[in-house]
This record gives sequence, structure tokens and C-alpha cells, in this order.
Amino acid sequence: MKVFVLSHSGTPLMPTTPRRARIFLTSRRARVLTREPFTIQLCFETTTYTQPVTVGVDTGSQMVGIAATANREVVFQAEMHLRTDISGKLMQRRQYRRTRRTRKTRYRAARWANRRRSSGWLPPSLRARAEATVKAVRFVSRVLPIGQINVEIGSFDTQHMQNPEVSGASYLQGQLAGYLLREYLLAKWQRQCAYCQTSGVPLQVEHLIPKSRGGSDRPSNLVIACEPCNKGKGSRTAEEFGYPEIQAQARVPLTDAAHVSSIKTAVVQPLAQQFGAERVAVRYGYETKYQRIQVLNLPKSHANDAVAIACAIGEVVKPLTVVYQLRCVPRGHYQMYNGKHSEHKVWAPRKVKSWKLYELVKAKGQVGYIGGRRVKGAFVVKDVRSGKALVEVTPHKLEEEIMLLYIPMRLCWKTSLNHRMRFPASSGY
Ligand SMILES: [Zn+2]
Repeated sequence: MKVFVLSHSGTPLMPTTPRRARIFLTSRRARVLTREPFTIQLCFETTTYTQPVTVGVDTGSQMVGIAATANREVVFQAEMHLRTDISGKLMQRRQYRRTRRTRKTRYRAARWANRRRSSGWLPPSLRARAEATVKAVRFVSRVLPIGQINVEIGSFDTQHMQNPEVSGASYLQGQLAGYLLREYLLAKWQRQCAYCQTSGVPLQVEHLIPKSRGGSDRPSNLVIACEPCNKGKGSRTAEEFGYPEIQAQARVPLTDAAHVSSIKTAVVQPLAQQFGAERVAVRYGYETKYQRIQVLNLPKSHANDAVAIACAIGEVVKPLTVVYQLRCVPRGHYQMYNGKHSEHKVWAPRKVKSWKLYELVKAKGQVGYIGGRRVKGAFVVKDVRSGKALVEVTPHKLEEEIMLLYIPMRLCWKTSLNHRMRFPASSGY
């Protein structure tokens, strides 16, 4: 557990221990800036010497893992839950618009083929994901002096492999190469057995022409197969086994996946613009996997992947038990009235009984964030990880049931929520 420290002028310094932070705070040489994550600002001038902090970003479709390492120690680890409601909401908006337009202006000329998409356009759901990923790095940069940023963009490097079918076995050596080859083959054969299309079972690398009969180790001679198929095939070739088409399929090399290039333009480019191109490096899934399993021996999670991404290959770091949970929430609520004749007001004031939307609370023994407030005063408490409603607390129980979760310094890892990742105006954001 680390306490984040900002200098007198607001620039991030190296994080410190809770003990040292307490000494600073009790002697009034520092003040608490934010409680989540626990950050203090020094009230005296210091040197701003810092050691390099490396940030690892594990991009994902539902969750982004983010971690920071410094001096062979993990100093920050978080999982950011992305929004998954965007395409549904846009669909809803589209339907409302359609009905409204036909209702009000029935003879309006059709306008659907006169729009153009700007270059670099991404679907809104993907754009939100990419922007949130960049935001997560900015969030870390406010409390830690970031040196290097590593972003995982795909499972393997098709550019670097050039044409693995041609460059062949000579380049594929060592343990890391085994991971690269496996990831490549898994992607090429859609993570399923090439013969019986089974997925979700342990898959093995299989030689089309067996090694015992002079088959090579080149990717063009390799497929992914389940154990029964691999054993059943034995020392026969794929053709003899009854699958001549697999042999032809294996000769076609895999090209760069579309999502890899979209991550490159939507995440890596903005990061390079904001932090400098020389500080942003690209990493691949097979390296992460090797580092996480073989070097760090950590279970699979987005936060652990991010730790593996932040490390140099082969570097051993001390992991953190603290994993922050961040959640992306919509900026606002646009609907103002509902009811058959739009007679019900549906927005709540900024504060209801001193509670704000998205505040972290405890209700009926469960911890969550305020996801909704009813007219009568009931609060919907939602889970930070899943975003699903946990409890709805009735108005007369409100006072006694809901209380602000007091987070003492040493417990602040237990649950944390930083929904909008807002920071005080003084820090320049
Ligand atoms: Zn099989």
C-alpha cells in the first residue's frame, strides 16, 4: 500500500509509506488532497527528484487493467470497468428521433445518404473505450511521475514476425518464442481444434506432416489441435487423416487483425501526443503472458496483466494486494420528464439528503456506489465491479442504512471508487 504524494507546486513525487504520510499529516507538513486514491500534498518546498515509473496498460473490451511499477515494486494497480451501454443507448436515441421526426414532419425529404464520416472515425462504443483507456493513463499521471508507458495492443507482432511462414524456425527460439508461436497459431485457428473445431479444451501444437516423417517446425506445418485429435492422428499426415483442406489453409499466413490497428490509432497515438512518442512503447500479448506466468507467477486478471506489461521481460517485481476499481459512468442524465404526458420530473437535485450521485456508500452491509435516486428519496446502490443494482434503500431507512464509508488510510484499498476521475482544479486538470 502506497500513499501518493504531490509536491508543494502540485507535481507528482514518488509515493510514500502510510507511516511516513501519517507523520507528515500529524505534524501538519502535508495536507490530504484526495482520499481516493489517498494522495497528500506537501506544504513545504522539496526537490522534485523522482525515479522512473513505468505504466502498463492492458487494453480490453470490458475492462482495462492499469499498473505502475517503480524500483522493482508495484506502486499502483487498478481495473477500470468500461461502459458497455453505449450502442444500446444510441439505438434508443435513434428510435426516439425516428418516431419524433415522422410525428412532426411527415413529408420531410429523406436524409440518410448525405452524411460523411471523418477520417479516423471509430464506432462510438469503441471510441468511448479508447478514450477511457487514455484517460486511465492520465489519471495515473496525476499522482505518479510517469516515465514510460507500455501498451498492449495485440497478442503478437505480425509486423515483427514479417512472414513467419518464410522466416521460419531460426527466429523462433527460446521460451518466449514458444509463446509467440502458440499465440500466433491460436489466433490463426480461432482458438479451436483444426480438425474437430472443439474449443474450450486444452489445445496442443500439432505437426501436419509429422516430425518423424520429416515435417518442419515452420508455422505453415503447424496447427492447433485437441488432445484426442492429436493422438488419433498419430504419425499420419493431415491428408491421410482425412483433412486435405487443412494443409492448404495452413499455408496462408495471418494478417494484422483490424482491432490492433484501431488500438494503435485510437490509444497509442493520443498517448504519444500527450506524453511524447519516445515514452510510449507497444507490447504484445505473448510477452505479457510469458512474463505473468513464467516470471511473476500471477493468476490471470487484467490488473496482473497490466503489471506484467509494466515490467521489462524477465524483471521480477513485488506485487500489490491493492487493486483499485475504477468505473466509467455517463456524464449526465439527459432525460428530464417521463410519464404519459411528460408530467413527471425525473431528475434529482445535485444533492438529496446530502448524498450525491456516484458516491461510494455502504447500505445493508454492502458497499457500492449510488447509481440512482428515486423521487421519494430511495437510493439505488450498485456494485462497483459489475454495475448491477445491489440494494434499494427505502427513505425511512436512509439515515441509518446509508453512511459514508469511512476509509482509514490503511484500509483504503478495500473498496474504492473513482467514478469520474475528477481531480481538484489546482492540479491543472
Ligand atoms: Zn479435435
